[in-house]
Amino acid sequence: MTDAQAKEEEKEMAQSISYITGSQLLSLNSSPNIAIVDVRDDERSYDAHIAGSLHYASDTFSDKIPNLIQDVKGKDTLVFHCALSQVRGPSCAQRFASYLTDKKEDVGIKNILVLERGFNAWEASGRPVCRCADIPCKGNKAKKLG
Ligand SMILES: [Zn+2]
Repeated sequence: MTDAQAKEEEKEMAQSISYITGSQLLSLNSSPNIAIVDVRDDERSYDAHIAGSLHYASDTFSDKIPNLIQDVKGKDTLVFHCALSQVRGPSCAQRFASYLTDKKEDVGIKNILVLERGFNAWEASGRPVCRCADIPCKGNKAKKLG
């Protein structure tokens, strides 16, 4: 195998991120172990968002991975998405996965997923969205805490 082939294979493996559908996410979203990570850039400020989702813009994502790890302490599943989950969502999920692999530190994250077809499809199929301007969004989960 040439180096180029080996690199190609590595790339393929690295890109094997799993997807989750909107309906699967909807049924999981009430779980306390799941965090949704919105990696859209400016769109978040004028579009709605999934309630309770964290915002880590893809632009600055790599620099903020340590903050994200702090934010998701106690969670075991992260679901990344952007508007369509075609480029930014999967690439940030991948960067996060590589970061954990490189660091060899167990931060308790077992599943790194990408929301299939992203926020746009989520909203288009009438799934619940939040339009608050809170940072971070307290979402539905805050209501349960009173
Ligand atoms: Zn909100």
